[in-house]
Amino acid sequence: MPTVLITGASRGIGLEFVRQYRADGWDVIATCRTPENAPELQATGAEVHGLDVTDEAALAGMGRTLAGRTIDVLINNAGIYPLKGPQGAFGAIPVEPWMEALRTNIIAPWKVAETFIGNLERADRPVLATVSSKMGSIAEASSPGSVVYRTSKTGVNMVVKGLSIELASRGVICLALHPGWVRTDMGGPNGLIDATESVTGLRAVIAGASTADSGTFRGYDGATIPW
Ligand code: NDP
Repeated sequence: MPTVLITGASRGIGLEFVRQYRADGWDVIATCRTPENAPELQATGAEVHGLDVTDEAALAGMGRTLAGRTIDVLINNAGIYPLKGPQGAFGAIPVEPWMEALRTNIIAPWKVAETFIGNLERADRPVLATVSSKMGSIAEASSPGSVVYRTSKTGVNMVVKGLSIELASRGVICLALHPGWVRTDMGGPNGLIDATESVTGLRAVIAGASTADSGTFRGYDGATIPW
């Protein structure tokens, strides 16, 4: 059975990825910051590792732990959305939460790719999928606010494009994915779809992608999203 590694798997979209791949019989390596606080993840029977994706030393340690194992699909899912609403409005945005968003949403996906490239290379059709957001699309931006989150997702889109170029010769299919507006802790109760629908669609995009799709930005319905 193929193996998938998913970051930020304690809840929301990440947890749903774990559940669906497990249901299909995949070997699932799930990471989250505090496994002891993630009973729903533990209940899936996935192999769980503690990992803060912004912690370079912890990432390196996990790279050593997983050395020699094949990873067919790697999902950069962990993400944060600081300063929602008025706190993130023009005029008084604090710098440190912005830096934390850049560390978590942009830099960590790149570092995760660097850490597990050797595992991906062992797969026949390796896919590196990064959960971005339409909120990061410059072409589609029209409303004010959320500049902290928006810039972090715009930045990770370039990370995905950059990785697609860097890793083309190694056969790694790199995708930026928009999960839709999903009812999770981050998306809130007014989201348009639930995690089941989102992840069902995202998994279909991942399963159907070829090297020709590497470096593209796709929605959970498979549609191409303008950068
Ligand atoms: P949630 O807030 O429900 O879950 C976020 C997950 O990321 C949690 O498991 C959290 O872990 C983890 N996480 C955050 N920071 C770190 C870190 N430094 N190291 C490891 N794990 C971390 O969000 P969603 O499930 O909704 O979002 C998942 C992804 O989808 C994110 O990248 C988000 O930006 C993106 N997205 C979501 C949308 C939505 O409508 N929900 C829309 C567009 C994009 P912990 O439990 O430890 O906090």
